[in-house]
Amino acid sequence: MAFADSCRCHISESLSTISEAAPGCRGEGGGTPSAGRRSRTIAGALFALLCSAAFTAYSAQKTDPNKTWITGVTIISPEKLDRIEKGSVLIEDGRIAKVERNQKAKKPAGATIVSGKGQYLIPGLIDSHVHLASVPGMKLDRNRELQRMVEDYFKQLPRSYLYYGYTTLVDTAVFDRQVLDDFRRAPLHPDLSDCGESLPLANGYPMSFAPPEIRFELFPNFIYDAKQANRIPKEHKPEEHTPAADVARVKSSGGICVKTYFERGFADDKNLPVMGPDVLAEIRKAATQNGLVLMIHANGFEAQAFAAAGNADVIAHGMWHWQAHDREKELPDEIRRLLDQIVEKKIGYQPTIQVLYGELAYFDPEYLRLPAIGKVVPKEMVRWFQTPEGRWFGKELREEGTSDRAMIEGFERGPLRRVRQVVAYLAARDANFVFGTDTPSAPTYGNLPGLNGYLEMMQLQRAGMSLAQILRAATLNNAREFRMDSQVGTIEPGKIANLVLMSKSPLESVEAYDSITTVFVRGKAVSRDSLTADSAK
Ligand SMILES: [Zn+2]
Repeated sequence: MAFADSCRCHISESLSTISEAAPGCRGEGGGTPSAGRRSRTIAGALFALLCSAAFTAYSAQKTDPNKTWITGVTIISPEKLDRIEKGSVLIEDGRIAKVERNQKAKKPAGATIVSGKGQYLIPGLIDSHVHLASVPGMKLDRNRELQRMVEDYFKQLPRSYLYYGYTTLVDTAVFDRQVLDDFRRAPLHPDLSDCGESLPLANGYPMSFAPPEIRFELFPNFIYDAKQANRIPKEHKPEEHTPAADVARVKSSGGICVKTYFERGFADDKNLPVMGPDVLAEIRKAATQNGLVLMIHANGFEAQAFAAAGNADVIAHGMWHWQAHDREKELPDEIRRLLDQIVEKKIGYQPTIQVLYGELAYFDPEYLRLPAIGKVVPKEMVRWFQTPEGRWFGKELREEGTSDRAMIEGFERGPLRRVRQVVAYLAARDANFVFGTDTPSAPTYGNLPGLNGYLEMMQLQRAGMSLAQILRAATLNNAREFRMDSQVGTIEPGKIANLVLMSKSPLESVEAYDSITTVFVRGKAVSRDSLTADSAK
């Protein structure tokens, strides 16, 4: 039992996938039957040697553990969707060394073969909107008795993102750097960038959710607002909380982006203070000077108009509120004009439709029964979600006396319909969609790591984005927008070997994103099955 597992681990450097796809041991490249037979024999011999001490010496002579040859695979890279061919990809020392779009290329000496026969290879997926330190289903001040469960959740977290093919993440608002540091230290994890601590306006969203006594500590990078001087503790000096000072702190903490907000509030937190265009202009200027991407939380018409006028780089969230136009059936002209502007300015657009479903999860009796849930969070946590304590947020969401059905229908008629109309309009004009999920959009348990990306893709398709647009949004568009395109986002030589092997084509069905067999994490092949929550320890 344990023996077999540890044998697999020895070769998991690059071979763990082969064990589940026996054809993977077939020698490609040679093409002649004898060559095929010969490498089969070699593979057989290798396998026999794996569990012996001799393996180390043998492999040192014959195969280079840092060289992998993925062969016979259909290569789908977003910059070349007009050239989808079978070929081979060579990985060397964690980077893509060669991309051969033909079937004649020879296996380089010493490389370990991974057969991609009948499979599709895409670049690792990028989710540019996550909150790693937030725990699904929990408030910021967590129940201490659940500490063990939370620790197990954090241990599984990087693996759950990888399980669904996410090899690059951007945490858009750091509030517990320890969680991010631990994530980066995990034995297997997606690459992680962040926007440092976010820039809310004093007492505005989202610091308004925290009690006044602690909100200035939780959001130390808030923007001072002279109009609210009497609501800001004296120890915080205005000159230390200017947009320029805040952006400089993000830069010096290693952030690649700046996140700010325009949100007047909802539910019990309405009429929150929001910044004016002058403040946004100062943030814009400082972000440009520091080479940082400017993201703004905006989910309504007014907020997105504010973001577009202020030349934000990325609008986080779809437009689910049309405000004065909420009840109109067709997309109002005024909103069309704004969306045209967003297309024209090539502003990155993150619809995050699944965020709304995350809330509906409490009214959908099927949700917690999804088998996928047990793959991405520990069993103990799934059980906790089912307890009355674990369902607390659903109670807060429910409008008094409203049935599950009515809650869902209300969302469908309102915000979901509106955001879908907006996404369809933008998709028809090929807007600059960038893929982001806002996972876990706490405190709901309806947006779980990794799985949420897959569900969001289904939402995007349903709203009218093409499969090519979805793939580009989650790879190249994100890489360009967040200035990582020299490193990730396509299958091209020189880039980091973050790759995903899947048995269905992502250009034929969105379900392909749930047909992943292997994830290459900086060149290391990891079988999908080994990444589930139930396979951990
Ligand atoms: Zn967010």
